[in-house]
Amino acid sequence: MIEEIDFENRIVSPEYTSAQDEAEISLRPKTLSEYIGQDKAKDNLSIYIEAARKRKESLDHVLLYGPPGLGKTTLAGIIAHEMGVNIRVTSGPAIEKQGDLVAILTALNEGDVLFIDEIHRLSRNVEEILYPAMEDFSLDIILGKGPSARSIRLDVPHFTLVGATTRSGQLTAPLRDRFGVLLRLELYTPEQLGQIVTRSAGILGIPIDIDGALEIASRARGTPRIANRLLKRVRDIAEIQFDGIITEKVAREALARFEIDELGLDDFDRRMLKAIINNYGGGPVGLETISAAVGEEAVTIEDVYEPYLMQIGFLTRTPRGRCVTPACYEHLGIKPAGQQQLI
Ligand code: ADP
Repeated sequence: MIEEIDFENRIVSPEYTSAQDEAEISLRPKTLSEYIGQDKAKDNLSIYIEAARKRKESLDHVLLYGPPGLGKTTLAGIIAHEMGVNIRVTSGPAIEKQGDLVAILTALNEGDVLFIDEIHRLSRNVEEILYPAMEDFSLDIILGKGPSARSIRLDVPHFTLVGATTRSGQLTAPLRDRFGVLLRLELYTPEQLGQIVTRSAGILGIPIDIDGALEIASRARGTPRIANRLLKRVRDIAEIQFDGIITEKVAREALARFEIDELGLDDFDRRMLKAIINNYGGGPVGLETISAAVGEEAVTIEDVYEPYLMQIGFLTRTPRGRCVTPACYEHLGIKPAGQQQLI
């Protein structure tokens, strides 16, 4: 039987829930210089922003891609802030009809940033409206039906579209081609996450030392959203069971209590990896099969869980499916089948 896992409340889930929305806003860096890490993306962006500002033009359309929680929404806000314009935030699934997009585009001011999260989930119909808007800042609208239908062209203000997606490969080619700037966000190093934890603790008034911050950072799966969430959960334990200050010892004890191990793996990761080992000899095994075995959608496994497991070298993707690595066996304290026979 599949054990129920509460994914909404999974502490190490990088996806956000609306309740965290408000808290996240206060922690979001507002300028490029406050934005920690992602040096390559930041360097490129700062050049493009400066050039656009000098020419007094809007910035070219930007596509940000990478796993959830890495700072795509934050970066869109920073782009708007640095360009001195407003940002309008929406998402692919929220724009249901062509009319929804027309309403959004015509309400923009000159130079504004339009941020579309999960842009790969836009419907084809809506995408078609977006192409001329991105290219010529105009809309082709069809009025009426049948023989009497006529098309009119409507100008929209010059705007910068910032699209975010977990994988650029999910975008249709015509949409991807219309972005002038493509930036891939990478998982953060523990040191960078340590700086993020220290910064967030400062904003939230949480006493923490460097080792405490690093301890949280090293278990945050390379993801700032998870680091910030762990910080808040550890604070609760620090206040109730300790003297309120987050040290390495306090962080360790709190995280052990949440069953998050030294590498940031939680119960779900361990269950998934063990399922591959115990049911499929460590792989190769197809994504759909894993999905059925652990009761989680294949896209979620691919976008949310796998990037980190691959980054730490526990999982590999081969043409024949996923494979668990020797390092993963070692971490889980399981001997590969071949070795067991030798004993
Ligand atoms: P995404 O849009 O990629 O899912 P967000 O932009 O919503 O991610 O970032 C999640 C949280 O992580 C934000 O609230 C922000 O506080 C924090 N964060 C993300 N990137 C950084 C960064 N480079 N420096 C500091 N904090 C960051």
